[in-house]
Amino acid sequence: MLPWSSAPVPPVAGSAPPLRLFDTSTGELRPTAPGATARMYVCGITPYDATHLGHAATYLAFDLVNRVWRDGGHDVHYVQNVTDIDEPLLERAIRDHDDWVVLGMRETALFREDMEALRVLPPRHFIGAVEAIPEIAELVGKLLASGAAYRLDDPEFPDVYFDISATREFGYESGYDTETMLRLSGERGGDPERPGKRNPLDALLWRMAREGEPAWDSDLGRGRPGWHVECTAIALNRLGTQIDVQGGGSDLSFPHHEFGAAHAEALTGVHPFARHYCHAGMIGLDGEKMSKSRGNLVFVSRLRADGVDPMAIRLALLSGHWRSDRIWEPSMLAEAEARLAAWREATALDSGPDASDTVARLRTHLADDLDTPNAIAAVDAWAAEARERRGRDAEAPGVIRAAVDALLGVAL
Ligand code: ZN
Repeated sequence: MLPWSSAPVPPVAGSAPPLRLFDTSTGELRPTAPGATARMYVCGITPYDATHLGHAATYLAFDLVNRVWRDGGHDVHYVQNVTDIDEPLLERAIRDHDDWVVLGMRETALFREDMEALRVLPPRHFIGAVEAIPEIAELVGKLLASGAAYRLDDPEFPDVYFDISATREFGYESGYDTETMLRLSGERGGDPERPGKRNPLDALLWRMAREGEPAWDSDLGRGRPGWHVECTAIALNRLGTQIDVQGGGSDLSFPHHEFGAAHAEALTGVHPFARHYCHAGMIGLDGEKMSKSRGNLVFVSRLRADGVDPMAIRLALLSGHWRSDRIWEPSMLAEAEARLAAWREATALDSGPDASDTVARLRTHLADDLDTPNAIAAVDAWAAEARERRGRDAEAPGVIRAAVDALLGVAL
């Protein structure tokens, strides 16, 4: 798939400290240590509905990872998928008497527009599951051949499952106990109740064709891939193993990222698949997590259609810490609009206080597990002084504008 287009990232003078991020698998805040090319995979949308603020917050968090690495002189190889074939998409298409292909294309197009408006830097590879089916089927074939996967003894639907005992480390990514894993598996698309599996947690790799469902020919038989292995194939084939960051929302930690890691490790024999597993917090509304099932979604496209400046949406979402679950309040948008106006006024002045300390603080806070509340406060302090006409550095407004653009992704 074509990704969206990118706004140029201005250079910022000076050097950046290494980025530290919280890693779910070790429960520690640790430095990332990418090579010349940093490698990041972030799980993409299932395109059956428009981008809501929870999605946007997740992609903004990993956009900051991308920006901080670039600022540190790294090339960033960023890959994102689109789950353009999966149960929720098919169910929505049936409910709305829509064609699942058309629905997926329409919502993916809207997602691209939202990402571009929010100035999220595009992935180098933006890959739909449908276009990746041959490589996914090939990977499942290898897992079967190695004994890490098995066919269910079901004469009608001999689906292929991953055996969780194929790696010794299964469970390390989320750190959950078996009881929690079983519960989350049932809640998040797994089928722990299905008879005939070696272990109730074993995850679907290849679903044989059912009447009325889309299916593709492969050496495994006509069918379609499971969700987790889709990401494994897309990531491994473009980024290799031991990638720097595997990212997504916190609801992907289990089962999705646990199985993504286990599939990759069973195939390659290399542990861990990712050096950091990073999970963004959820955005709630009226005291509850924003989710399709609750119907309490605030869509980015709706806010844009109402005339809200996407930079205010971006700033509002960045005003909270990326890992914390937080509640969306309309007052956050009003506050972000006021901040945006103040920053724009300050950076439009012909001079201001020296910018070097502010830029250094901005970098230090972002490098510290993307501490955006304090990074924003540093810019607030500079803007307040500039508007009081303190400081006579003619270069400073331009330096701050470039740093806010490059590091926070906010165009002033
Ligand atoms: Zn994924």
